[in-house]
Amino acid sequence: MNKSINLKNRPSGKPILEDFKFEDIETPEAAEGQLLLKTLYVSVDPYLRGRMRDEKSYIPPFKVGEPLESMVVAEVTESKNENFKKGDFVSGMLKWKKIQISDGKGLNKIDRNLAPLSAYLGVLGLTGITAYLGLEKIGKLKEGEHLLVSGAAGAVGSVVGQIGKIKSCKVTGIAGTDEKIETLKEKYGFDSGINYKKTGNIKSAIAEACALGVDVYFDNVGGEILDAAMASMNKYGRVINCGAISIYNAEEQPTGPRLETVLIKKSISMQGFTVRDYAEDFPDAIKQLAQWLKEGKLKYEETVVEGFEKIPQAFLDLFEGKNKGKMVVKVN
Ligand code: NAP
Repeated sequence: MNKSINLKNRPSGKPILEDFKFEDIETPEAAEGQLLLKTLYVSVDPYLRGRMRDEKSYIPPFKVGEPLESMVVAEVTESKNENFKKGDFVSGMLKWKKIQISDGKGLNKIDRNLAPLSAYLGVLGLTGITAYLGLEKIGKLKEGEHLLVSGAAGAVGSVVGQIGKIKSCKVTGIAGTDEKIETLKEKYGFDSGINYKKTGNIKSAIAEACALGVDVYFDNVGGEILDAAMASMNKYGRVINCGAISIYNAEEQPTGPRLETVLIKKSISMQGFTVRDYAEDFPDAIKQLAQWLKEGKLKYEETVVEGFEKIPQAFLDLFEGKNKGKMVVKVN
């Protein structure tokens, strides 16, 4: 039996399981030019929360009563499209359905001999690419600089910090458990880490860990941690606004301190981005990430949750910090 996961309600504040609805649906048949896909791995990502709001954004909102979608790794089980054959593995933006059809547009063939299939949703997928291109295009990280990254033990953050080490920088990571901080230092080679849930004063903890100041801050969480990091920025510092998970569930956007004088006095630049701004650079980014993986310079972790019915819970768990590295759901 085929199944889909639909948006039942637009959440208010933190999403809950009742905001999702499982539906039994027909198994489709591929017409000429189409392929039949079996979902293998589903990526759950913080930005999906934004798509649950009825708001204009860089990507259209989900519709109530219709299936959600995210990046998915799937197997081609039947093909009537000359560009794909049965047995191919692909990744792309696909529906939360066990089985679906596609016309092949926007799908990329992936090679399971180069890396495990799930890696194409993380280190070799959009989160790895986000880390690489955010640092490359906006951070303009130079050898010897001090890089600070929040959400450091997550999918994007753990890659950001390791690239910092590859580029011979000093790296400090901020994350939410002692175990995560240990991983940052032991597994990924970060120089220091801050558990923001245990630190009474995040501003002084950052100042202490980055005694000579922060040259590049890669921000994955926004909110109070961003406010605190701004106080330690060096002259000509660069702030990369990648994500703001700490305020994604806020019903009213919290206001923070005014930043204009901080930016002016220290000539700091602060730039947001969505990774698709740099779509033409994806092939180069993947090539570099794959090379570092092969050389053992880049390590990665995944939290793999098993079962199609666990997709909504895995998504909710991102907001509780239950993942280390990329959160993915294994469907088959
Ligand atoms: P992730 O870091 O793997 O998972 C989310 C992590 O956020 C959790 O593990 C949790 O870790 C932390 N977190 C949750 N609530 C928090 C809070 N209130 N304050 C501080 N930290 C909190 O997710 P990801 O996929 O790598 O994404 C990281 C960020 O990058 C997200 O904000 C996402 O929206 C953004 N992003 C942006 C782009 C882009 O194109 N700009 C692309 C991909 C991702 P702790 O245990 O440390 O709290």
